[in-house]
Amino acid sequence: MLLEIENLKVRYGTIEALHGVSFSVDTGEIVALLGANGAGKTTTLHSIMRLPPPEAPKVVEGDIRFRGQSILTTEPYDVVRKMNMNLVPEGRHIFGNLTVYENLWIATTARTDGQENIDKDFERVFSLFPRLAERRRQQSESLSGGEQQMLAVGRALMSKCDVILLDEPSMGLAPLLMYELFRTLKQLNEEGMTILVVEQNARVALQFAHRGYVLDTGQIVAEGPSDKLMEDPEVKKAYLGG
Ligand code: ATP
Repeated sequence: MLLEIENLKVRYGTIEALHGVSFSVDTGEIVALLGANGAGKTTTLHSIMRLPPPEAPKVVEGDIRFRGQSILTTEPYDVVRKMNMNLVPEGRHIFGNLTVYENLWIATTARTDGQENIDKDFERVFSLFPRLAERRRQQSESLSGGEQQMLAVGRALMSKCDVILLDEPSMGLAPLLMYELFRTLKQLNEEGMTILVVEQNARVALQFAHRGYVLDTGQIVAEGPSDKLMEDPEVKKAYLGG
């Protein structure tokens, strides 16, 4: 298994946000982590990325393993550089005063695999997202929400990424742009990218993912292949509008 979360309990100060969460993601999969506001989805992603507090809470029990090795003591930059795993955060967090090209370039600065590979990744990002290619010299703050989301995904790819964690990628996107983004993510997956996606939009996420887990107030309450989850009466009632 590529990524295993085992009985993870985490705390912000004295407040426990995850109460023993277990799930896994295998190489080449698209896995969706679903749940309502405050369920603990972002907390889970931040814990995997090993972000320091206050973004990520303290792990008090359980383990996070990457290719069988615990990463609980791994530094966040090593999660990116050595495990080739990166997060597309909720709200994108791009540098608005920099151009599209500069935002992408910044993500490459810690790479040690040579300019040729970096150039190939620029080509890949610009072919996946032609809008970014057209706008490469534009200030990023003037991009539309959908284009900013594409840039946030592109930036993760430029860091030499094999495993991408996405936090609410559909947030604030018009339906057409949202489907365009998910189509591109599907294409990336077909080219070998492993994807863990956190979504409140359960319907869209389950159409896109191979498997899913439902998180409710810090606990996994349902799991399975996407088609089975979509037919689960409890999941239907709570997350798919009946
Ligand atoms: P949303 O979709 O609203 O972002 P979520 O499922 O991602 O929800 P989290 O943001 O992970 O949920 O929050 C899980 C719980 O942890 C919530 O009760 C939240 O208030 C709490 N929490 C999150 N971040 C912090 C923090 N920095 N300090 C204290 N508590 C926090």
